[in-house]
Amino acid sequence: MKAVQYSGTIHQPVTIFELDIHQPADWLEIQVYFRIKKWQHLFLWDPNGRLRWQYVHVHAPKTAVIHKNEKLSDYGTLPGALPLGTWKLEVLILPEHLPVQHKLNITAGTGLCSSSGEWSNDQKQYWANADGKAPMQANLYPMTKAKKCGPAWYRGDFHTHTAMSDGKMTVKEGMVQARKQKLDFFAATDHNLLPTMWVEDEKVLVIPGMEVTSSKGHFNALGLTSWVDWRPTHPDGGMESEQGMNRVVSEIKKAGALFSINHPRLAASSWLFNDTSLSDIDSFEVWNDPTFPKNLQATEEALLLWNELWNAGYCVCGIGGSDCHGLPTESYEPNGLPSVIGDPATYVYSSELSARAILQSVKERRVYVTRGPIIDQTVEINHETFMIGEDVSDLIHRMEEAVVRFKVKVDPVPGGKLLWIENGKVIDEQLMDGSSEYESCAQWKSGEFVWRRLEIRSDTGNLLAFTNPVFSGTKPPEIDTWGQLLAKAGLV
Ligand SMILES: [Zn+2]
Repeated sequence: MKAVQYSGTIHQPVTIFELDIHQPADWLEIQVYFRIKKWQHLFLWDPNGRLRWQYVHVHAPKTAVIHKNEKLSDYGTLPGALPLGTWKLEVLILPEHLPVQHKLNITAGTGLCSSSGEWSNDQKQYWANADGKAPMQANLYPMTKAKKCGPAWYRGDFHTHTAMSDGKMTVKEGMVQARKQKLDFFAATDHNLLPTMWVEDEKVLVIPGMEVTSSKGHFNALGLTSWVDWRPTHPDGGMESEQGMNRVVSEIKKAGALFSINHPRLAASSWLFNDTSLSDIDSFEVWNDPTFPKNLQATEEALLLWNELWNAGYCVCGIGGSDCHGLPTESYEPNGLPSVIGDPATYVYSSELSARAILQSVKERRVYVTRGPIIDQTVEINHETFMIGEDVSDLIHRMEEAVVRFKVKVDPVPGGKLLWIENGKVIDEQLMDGSSEYESCAQWKSGEFVWRRLEIRSDTGNLLAFTNPVFSGTKPPEIDTWGQLLAKAGLV
């Protein structure tokens, strides 16, 4: 067994602690202590330049084991053989949180490891091993494996957290909640962590992701299976600079993940990267945690931005995310509803329940978001039927001009309203009068760019659900960047 202890005070934003391993080892254990919890980020690099462990110091256990046997290796680790040589433990601390007292124990050993991580008994599915591409890859994640076959509307959540970062529920507790909320899928999007394993579940599909969390905005990399270097210590400034963030976005897209901007107008977490190219945006979190008081205003502004994005010619999918951090017994407001996974729920019409198919359907905008109403919407043009999110240009072009019939079946909401929004404006408003079927008509012409979507609101005007637009035509983009979009929406 070989052990080193480092203790004292860290004065630098980046500090490297080393451990030389000269004898074969089965495991490596790290114990973490900082006098204050301030989102210290830790990375363990092996002598071959592989990232073997990532850690955010908020609610995660204080001990982690990186093991050659995957079954004994903790969340956030890359299991597998431990090469001999110099291992480096990198600690990142934001300059405003310096100095900070620390104690770090790193131990390498063979045979039984005295303290396996707190969550080591979970039945896990393993997504990564050291055979993947460096520095870290969820190379075993089954992108195309379906939990359910056949086309259907699948109920999910694209924004969740666990105690791996700053959430309060463990991975296992989150899974229990997902089942209680009858979710078919959710995206695991802890802050700045690539998930390398998860709790096994027969029914609920877990899509790997990461919430890249900078001081100038947060985005979800949905379907991410490769670690990208978001660190502010990267020569281009990483996620803290415009140039660095553009690189991070382009790398996650190259890795096959969706670039989804989160809560774009939520107070200190608004998206402030003016150089972000609008053509890079794959999806847009229009509706973040409705139980968080500041989201009442932020969601209305996000809807406004989404309208302007479409009006500028970008047919980007709008999604929802609970961004759930707390326990199901807690709420942000006294006597308020708890913030729970699946509120709002994002329904995706997909050919099957696999990560690949769900993400493809998001790209195709077959999506609606709801806090309750289950929406069955079809669009009829000349006896042909289309669904939410579809581009009907071909038919409109062939017919030159056509009547477009939007038909909705939805359970009545007392006092509720249906708002039909065309090219950003409410053009039709219907009271939910107890009937469960509604219709709204449009006359669309070939050559024009026109889109229409539905919102359902309560008697007090609160958002209850929205669909993605059905549209016809194209528009050469008149703006290119996020900064221009904010200006166009009057939000600068
Ligand atoms: Zn979040």
